[in-house]
Amino acid sequence: MDLMEYQAKELFAAHGVATTLGKVVETAEEARSAAEEIGGTVVVKAQVKAGGRGKAGGVKLATSPDEAFEHASAILGMQIKGLTVHRVLITPATPPVEEYYFSFLLDRSHRSYLCIASVEGGVEIEEVAKTNPDAVKQIPVDPGAGVDDAKAAEIVDEAGFPAELRDQAIAMVKALYATFVEEDATLVEVNPLARLEGDKLEALDGKVSLDDNADFRHEDHAKFEDKSAADPLEAKAKAKGLNYVKLDGEVGIIGNGAGLVMSTLDVVAYAGEDHGGVKPANFLDIGGGANAQVMADGLDVILGDDQVKSVFVNVFGGITACDEVANGIKGALEILGDQATKPLVVRLDGNNVDKGRAILDELNHPLVTQVPTMDGAADKAAELAGAAK
Ligand code: GDP
Ligand code: MN
Repeated sequence: MDLMEYQAKELFAAHGVATTLGKVVETAEEARSAAEEIGGTVVVKAQVKAGGRGKAGGVKLATSPDEAFEHASAILGMQIKGLTVHRVLITPATPPVEEYYFSFLLDRSHRSYLCIASVEGGVEIEEVAKTNPDAVKQIPVDPGAGVDDAKAAEIVDEAGFPAELRDQAIAMVKALYATFVEEDATLVEVNPLARLEGDKLEALDGKVSLDDNADFRHEDHAKFEDKSAADPLEAKAKAKGLNYVKLDGEVGIIGNGAGLVMSTLDVVAYAGEDHGGVKPANFLDIGGGANAQVMADGLDVILGDDQVKSVFVNVFGGITACDEVANGIKGALEILGDQATKPLVVRLDGNNVDKGRAILDELNHPLVTQVPTMDGAADKAAELAGAAK
């Protein structure tokens, strides 16, 4: 899960990273009050999970509460990279004297952590990386050893922070590392990390990506979820513990195993070309738990998508044998009753395939068609969706 700036800054503050929290508001009127309360010049900042807000007009200075009202009115409702702005952050406008870039991230290819730092301009970091790559330092961090005082000093010296900021930078690096590790983040980024007047180092912006696999040990992370932005079907699937991603197509897909489901999407997209250009409607991996309830939950979510015209259930029996899956489909159709309205094309193969197919043959349900091969089943599902389109 990616966090918005104000959420990232909350985590920063909790771990001792120097930053100014400001106030998050949802209306222009509240922006005016916040600006009044803070006093002086403030920055009005769009809160969306996208970078480049400054360039898109989503970050504006306001010298008075009225101006904060004006800017908030313009920014709220604005689209930045396809995302609607529902909130703005109001913070004191402390002018940066210099802007730096700093991040910790997971370096998957080296099975390690990586620190990226640059004191040559923060916001245009991608540009700096192209035109002056030597100015962008990449410092590997051994996850086992972590970042102690000595490592933090090494990072700060390698990045080339000014001597007068060295101690603050070392403290900042350690606090950012604590945020990264203790919150189970895959990315902690500060751009700009600003040198303010009076030689104060502060995180003026923050980006944090949390590792959802660690959610179970961070109950407090649930509050960061942006329910207004979530697709309602994805939210429903998540509540049922399903691994579902909504796509823009007509053929609902259920399969077991992420790899199988992904190749099913390809096969259906390919088959769809012969049937009026129908496409897969979703990704849904029911994993190994293909029992009646999981199957019913999956079908329920998929059938809730009005775009769906047919459903392709593609299962390769392994640990979960085909007869269990067939009984799951049977049970799901009983649970769903009249709610099951769209044709199901089922392809079973693998462990106990004969038993599984026999169960569905015997069921003889008017909505269910069995096709023994993946390509054949994809073609059938696409054909049914194309005819109903
Ligand atoms: P981004 O464009 O989405 O990365 O948003 P940022 O938060 O990085 O803001 C873009 C630019 O706005 C920064 O590089 C700063 O120059 C400026 N800015 C952001 N926050 C402040 C602030 O608190 N005070 C001042 N004076 N400028 C800011
Ligand atoms: Mn930024």
